[in-house]
Amino acid sequence: MTLELLDTLARDGFEELHALHDWRSGARAFLVLDDTSGGPGFGGIRRWSYIDEAQALRDCLRLARGMTLKCALADLPAGGAKLVLLDRPELELDGAYRYLGEVVERLAGRYYSGPDVGTTERELAWVAERTRFVTQPGPEGPGELADATCAGVIAGIEAALEHLDGAVDWPRRTVLVQGLGEVGARVAGSARRRGARVLASEIDTERGESVARELDLELIDPSRELDPSCDVFAPCALGGIVHDLSLVRLRCRVIAGAANNVLANPGHGDRLHERGVLYVPDFAINSGALIRGARFHLDGIREPLPAIGARIAQIVTHILCRSRDEDLAPARVAHQEAQRRVEHRRAQS
Ligand code: NAD
Repeated sequence: MTLELLDTLARDGFEELHALHDWRSGARAFLVLDDTSGGPGFGGIRRWSYIDEAQALRDCLRLARGMTLKCALADLPAGGAKLVLLDRPELELDGAYRYLGEVVERLAGRYYSGPDVGTTERELAWVAERTRFVTQPGPEGPGELADATCAGVIAGIEAALEHLDGAVDWPRRTVLVQGLGEVGARVAGSARRRGARVLASEIDTERGESVARELDLELIDPSRELDPSCDVFAPCALGGIVHDLSLVRLRCRVIAGAANNVLANPGHGDRLHERGVLYVPDFAINSGALIRGARFHLDGIREPLPAIGARIAQIVTHILCRSRDEDLAPARVAHQEAQRRVEHRRAQS
């Protein structure tokens, strides 16, 4: 078991793995520092009911690697990390998060933690009782991170439309937003304010109806959410939405949204490219919150939203131009580009 773990870390280039257990709260968690060659590891705390430990560990490794790629593409002096807390009915929640805060504090700034699925302001407040190295909710912190993510997604969509048609032209566009949560509602609202027609789906019916009414969106049934023809499909719910079955149903020209791990596997990016659908890689477009958080913690600056948007638009344009020039799927280009930067950093460190 141990040898297999070490082999995995070595084969895929992960730096460090902590297996954590707290007898007081019942917390069981994995913490992965993927790459700290360019600066401290950044990555939120995911709390999820995993089927088993192996699934939790795989998720932690995959998410930490995703953060590394995001940091590299955004040119941040930071690297990828992730903490996953295995959710169980007997878990003493506040104690578990305070314990994780102690673990983070012991790393003395090599890892900065923050929000993720299952970890909202309430949980972060418990973590923040024990460590300085966490995104503080409220006025002490970097500000509303979903606003930063939305600014990046909107800028990335504009860069993609500009690349495709030479103009953004929001009033002529139809945007389909999947998921009206923290980011999706903001993306839908921004696109609507710019004059686009916005279709949206949300599995939480009450929330969907209320957000749609407030923002003047056309709500569609989640069972039909992949069917409408649109310029932009913006996945803002869960990952893995582009897979063998959905890929042939989607009738959009651009896929660009906030969700992490949109492609079920890299081959789906190739198939989108072959079908002429422009896919803006998730780790290029959804790094707004990371940029905001890292700049705040490392430089003491709340990077303004337009600056975050401009940074992401530049990254997206660069990837899409290379993709066109080399006839290579944007996801492959983004991965190569991020990997090249990580290897360069590692060679220098
Ligand atoms: P959230 O939980 O607030 O919102 C997700 C919404 O999607 C929920 O309202 C949920 O009911 C809905 N949903 C789930 N499955 C759906 C489906 N099949 N169809 C329609 N709606 C569905 O999460 P969020 O913070 O808005 O994040 C959205 C995505 O963006 C996630 O994948 C997250 O990992 C990613 N992301 C978020 C941030 C951020 O700043 N919050 C940053 C980077 C990436």
